[in-house]
Amino acid sequence: MTESSQAEIGRNYDAEALIADDLAHHLHPFTDYKALAEEGGGRVITHADGVYLWDANGQRYLDGMAGLWCVNVGYGRRELVSAAAEQMLELPFYNTFFKTTTPPAAELSALLSDLTPASFNHVFFANSGSEANDTILRMARHFWHLEGKPEKRVIISRHNAYHGSTTAALSLGGMEAMHGQGGIIPDIVHVAQPYWYGEGGDTDPEAFGLTAARAIEEKILELGADRIAAFIGEPIQGAGGVIIPPDSYWPEVQRICRKYDILLICDEVICGFGRTGNWFGFETFGIESADFITMAKGLSSGYLPISAAVVGDRVANTLIDKGGEFFHGFTYSGHPAACAVAIKNIEIIRREGLVERCRDETGPHLAKALKTLEDHPLVGETRSRGLIGAIELVADKAARKHFDAPGKVGTICRDHCINSGLIMRAVRDIMVLSPPLVITTQQIDEMIAMARKAIDATAKDIGVM
Ligand SMILES: *Cc1c(COP(=O)(O)O)cnc(C)c1O
Repeated sequence: MTESSQAEIGRNYDAEALIADDLAHHLHPFTDYKALAEEGGGRVITHADGVYLWDANGQRYLDGMAGLWCVNVGYGRRELVSAAAEQMLELPFYNTFFKTTTPPAAELSALLSDLTPASFNHVFFANSGSEANDTILRMARHFWHLEGKPEKRVIISRHNAYHGSTTAALSLGGMEAMHGQGGIIPDIVHVAQPYWYGEGGDTDPEAFGLTAARAIEEKILELGADRIAAFIGEPIQGAGGVIIPPDSYWPEVQRICRKYDILLICDEVICGFGRTGNWFGFETFGIESADFITMAKGLSSGYLPISAAVVGDRVANTLIDKGGEFFHGFTYSGHPAACAVAIKNIEIIRREGLVERCRDETGPHLAKALKTLEDHPLVGETRSRGLIGAIELVADKAARKHFDAPGKVGTICRDHCINSGLIMRAVRDIMVLSPPLVITTQQIDEMIAMARKAIDATAKDIGVM
């Protein structure tokens, strides 16, 4: 499609009527309903192609967030649409309960076993990252029960982690605002995050990484290793503000988990499928012996909802050897159309070498482009791995001091981005980027140029420039 015909599609919709219906009837996720009503509603995104989105007014946006960290192969992939359509004609749905499977579910489970390290050979399917983490929480506790250690129930996580929005997943997460609305389930505890820029003070980053890892050990010693089932972490905390741990962190976490016999859960919902320049974030950070891998988002590039809990041999073998039913599952676990799309999505990532391109070309290019922003008076630090990055806006660069009212400046900057045609999200005052892996180096330059303009305009608004 040409760009002008793309711009026309949006105009086929009556934006005002849609926004009115939406405002009257749609309760959005993670939204302040009163604020939305006062603004008279939001944007209507009507269509997309490659790394660009269009709204109902025909405005184009460069999608610096790949939807919500998920559209890794970019928009407009007819192959994914065909894979879903063909599967839906052949078999639109059948369940995978009660000893039954379907061709796409069987094939995808083997494919994911092949894609992951040799010690991972079993997959449990669900429909969202949250559900996959719920599954892992239940499976980890069930495992220890089968091992004759039912008191090993506690899961250790980190402050400011994001593991999803179901009750179990938000409890695993470390978002206090979420905990505050209804509380969390028992036997989940949170320790420090490896956020050097915000919390490292005068410590050298690598030393700080070790200190952050040892917070896990302290918690284990406090509660007793015989009570701890597992530790869960994102290789890079995405929704928490693209917190990239110092290189010393993960190897030390792994050592601690091994020492005290605690299962290690890698939540790869964002980092998986090429985002950090390897197929999985655990490869980027030297994690060799995880017990569970959570996958979602990039697994299907968001074209259909699907997630997977990939289970290491130690746990899987116990489940299989000891027997007894695992009373868990979702109607749409292993949904055939979603599995067919995931299979095709992985084929595209492989065929187009998107992981290698992120590692060797686009990732390094993004890092360099981000660095050019560090001369800006508002930019305290830029950081990235592969195609996930952040621009940390601060009140005082030398002192690494944040703004007094967190989120205000970030929101101003985000709004400037949107008005100029860039989707860049604000986490507090950290501007985060996670573009589709198909982005070109030229489009990265376009993205960073728009980001700079937005940061300039933000600086003017708050009287810094
Ligand atoms: C998005 C996300 C989840 C939750 O996935 P949903 O599909 O929204 O339930 C879990 N973990 C991480 C790291 C995520 O980024």
